[in-house]
Amino acid sequence: RAQQPFINAAFTDFSQEAAQRAQIEALEQVKSELGQTYPLIINGKKIKTAETFASVNPSNPSQVIGYFSKASVEQANEAVQVAARTFETWKHVPAEERAGYLFAAADLMKERRFYINAWMIYEVGKSWVEADADTAEAIDFLEFYAREALRLSGEQPVVQVEGEKNALVYIPLGVAAVIPPWNFPCAIMVGMTSAAFVTGNTAILKPASTAPAIAYQFMRILEEVGLPAGVVNFLPGSGSVIGDTLVDNPLVRFIAFTGSRDVGLRIFERASKHQKGQRWLKRTILEMGGKDAVVVDETADLEAAATAIVASAFGFQGQKCSAGSRAIIVEQVYDEVLAKVVEKTKKLTLGDPTQPTTYMGPVVDENAMKKILDYIEIGKGEGQLLVGGNHRGSGYFIEPTVIANVDSHARIAQEEIFGPVLAVIKAKDFDDALHIANDTEYGLTGAFFTQNAQRLERVKAEYHVGNLYLNRKCTGALVGVQPFGGFNMSGTDSKAGGNDYLLLFTQAKAISVKK
Ligand code: NAP
Repeated sequence: RAQQPFINAAFTDFSQEAAQRAQIEALEQVKSELGQTYPLIINGKKIKTAETFASVNPSNPSQVIGYFSKASVEQANEAVQVAARTFETWKHVPAEERAGYLFAAADLMKERRFYINAWMIYEVGKSWVEADADTAEAIDFLEFYAREALRLSGEQPVVQVEGEKNALVYIPLGVAAVIPPWNFPCAIMVGMTSAAFVTGNTAILKPASTAPAIAYQFMRILEEVGLPAGVVNFLPGSGSVIGDTLVDNPLVRFIAFTGSRDVGLRIFERASKHQKGQRWLKRTILEMGGKDAVVVDETADLEAAATAIVASAFGFQGQKCSAGSRAIIVEQVYDEVLAKVVEKTKKLTLGDPTQPTTYMGPVVDENAMKKILDYIEIGKGEGQLLVGGNHRGSGYFIEPTVIANVDSHARIAQEEIFGPVLAVIKAKDFDDALHIANDTEYGLTGAFFTQNAQRLERVKAEYHVGNLYLNRKCTGALVGVQPFGGFNMSGTDSKAGGNDYLLLFTQAKAISVKK
């Protein structure tokens, strides 16, 4: 297996009847499993707590996905102790064996593809296609990091000198606090967790509180493939309570976090403080938000650009860190592109994500809905509302919303809304457009549409984002193909799904033996 080169998992073609049927059956299956109560998992032991919290279906908030045990501060600290003890044995397990767990987990995820998709459709309101891409990415991370761990465990290039044998080895760090977001509840959660343990670390997985059921499905898989107890501990609970506890614990060696700018900054600050008895500088891998843009100049293929603007802004209801929440269009073609964007946005379907024809489902929860609706109100004062702007139905549905003629320094052009709201900004010319694109505190993804070869070179050099896309949409990075991570307030640019990623989960040791 390890000898075969990595290839990305294919996306499911839901136009095939067999795939449709399989997805419908899996949705039925998951529906019959809703509403159960789930434990914490510490050292392989399943612990149900008195206090629980509910994860609900954002399309129909009265439907409970599951009740989750809520870890206390004491349980969080106990989980760290367990992970620290387990590290003493797990760090000696050969890379081949560790990688083997990832290959086996990838196989189970492939078998359960539709079932895992279904959990995401119910728990976070992903459309079929978005859920399927999320599962595919999770499979990719497992396959990719297994191979990467094997590569890092092999001989590394160092210069040999007379009379010595020199080597460099990558060893694990210790206990990881793994803190994923809810928006790629399978892919990012699986990616960060598997990167941590395949490199010989042990982990506490604290799932996002709006997507714990999907994380629990991964824990089931890890148990089934025989991962030893204590290597990955499952600790649902309040981010603001046990999140701080995990970050502050002196036995935690590093924190792998993906989420918002504010929580990322908080972790960065707290992790930098030396705690009593702490023997290291904590490492932080922090991937944060974005205010990404799709830029169009007057030489561009305007039809393709408009299609990309709409897909980037509204895929998964705009709840991607890579979402193109700004469209920056040069004056000369502004009206034409805007008209196309409006027309295409009006055609999007909004509704129940369990239905195969739905393009957009609900936003994730009530807080998100309120925040997005507040931004729409702000946006009405900052520009011209052309499409959408309303809440719909009894779930957390928000219409795809286009607000035009927005100043590049307006709040809706600078702050991450994380919902289906597109701010359209007029630029004077190419230079102005490029300047506006860079003029935010973030730097995650960006797309630029131009057919001018010289300009393409300038964009490559001057558009300051971690993931740059030319003449295509700014979402949909693939593992191994577009290693992912951003600049500035978008985080530490860890490049998940790239050859540099696992280095962040290890430390290098140089060993010289005198002959
Ligand atoms: P979030 O609110 O920051 O939460 C992320 C995780 O942090 C959750 O597990 C949360 O737990 C936990 N948390 C909350 N407070 C904490 C604290 N004080 N200490 C430690 N952990 C704490 O973000 P989100 O709403 O889940 O995700 C959306 C954000 O993620 C957006 O900003 C998006 O751009 C960003 N994102 C970035 C990338 C990237 O690769 N750059 C990818 C995906 C998403 P609770 O759920 O219990 O609060």
